[in-house]
Amino acid sequence: MKATILHAPGDVRYETVPDPRIEKPTDAIIQLSATCICGSDLWPYRGLNGESGPQHMGHEYCGVVVEVGAAVRTVKPGQFVVGSFCLSDNTCPHCAYGFQSSCEQVEFMTGAQAPYARVPLADGTLVATAEMPDAEMIPHMLAASDVLGTGWYAAVAAQVRKGGTAVVVGDGAVGLMGVLAAKELGAERIIAMSRHASRQALARAFGATDIVAERGAEGIARVKELTGGVGAESVLECVGMAASMEQAMGVCRPGGTIGYVGVPHGVSLDGQKLFFAQHRMLGGPAPVCRFLPDLMDRVLKGSIQPGKVFDLTLPLAQVAEGYKAMDERRAIKTLLRVD
Ligand SMILES: [Zn+2]
Repeated sequence: MKATILHAPGDVRYETVPDPRIEKPTDAIIQLSATCICGSDLWPYRGLNGESGPQHMGHEYCGVVVEVGAAVRTVKPGQFVVGSFCLSDNTCPHCAYGFQSSCEQVEFMTGAQAPYARVPLADGTLVATAEMPDAEMIPHMLAASDVLGTGWYAAVAAQVRKGGTAVVVGDGAVGLMGVLAAKELGAERIIAMSRHASRQALARAFGATDIVAERGAEGIARVKELTGGVGAESVLECVGMAASMEQAMGVCRPGGTIGYVGVPHGVSLDGQKLFFAQHRMLGGPAPVCRFLPDLMDRVLKGSIQPGKVFDLTLPLAQVAEGYKAMDERRAIKTLLRVD
């Protein structure tokens, strides 16, 4: 088959690779219904992770099981499944505590920007639906695999509550899903920090009540103004840069909580500043597995439409253009059609 390989920064190719096969008895092979490009794929694409050599790309996926290893019990060929980008056994102490992304056996999905993919730890990772979803459900189901699950975790980690106030820092796909999650979890006031008209519109569609276009000290002052000088009790940091973390801390009220899901690049925290700010913080790779059955249920009931975050759809063979469009910020998130 053909699959997506990153050869060097900026050099993504759709080229022939060996077909995936069962390597361990706990593996499953799925036929992808659709896949997509993650904001985090842009780090190696831009050469910012220091990797070298060709690597398989893609960790967001949904599709139909075609084969399972001898030890797999919970999914079977023919079932439609969604899985987390974090692969976990879902039985170890960390999984049982709801932190599947710190599973004792954790692995990270790769190779999903392809027509077929191997999913290790299938029992703990894949969630099957009762029947095959309609075609129009696929983008929404796909979103649950990472981008929605990560935005959801940002809101949960930030302790968004009914009637509360949330600020979302970052208007990328994860930030927009953070807005959706804050809305679903009952926040009354959702302030999205965004400078781009198309993203502002999407943020409003997902439930933002206010938009703050300013950044830095001005952005913090604007949020303070909107919150009676107090700041927000829940802040979702969905970028991972020093400036965005500073923004998150600046808008969080004392006793408030910051959920941070942007992989930190160049972020360092000042102990004394943290101490006197009195902020709770929880972040990390999202334990999507904890939320997946609930999120898939909300999608199937039609109560959320996270797939609206995909503003570019391309055939998988044009994956290189998908990366380019996201790198140049012409697209928020690219869905790749598997024809
Ligand atoms: Zn585990």
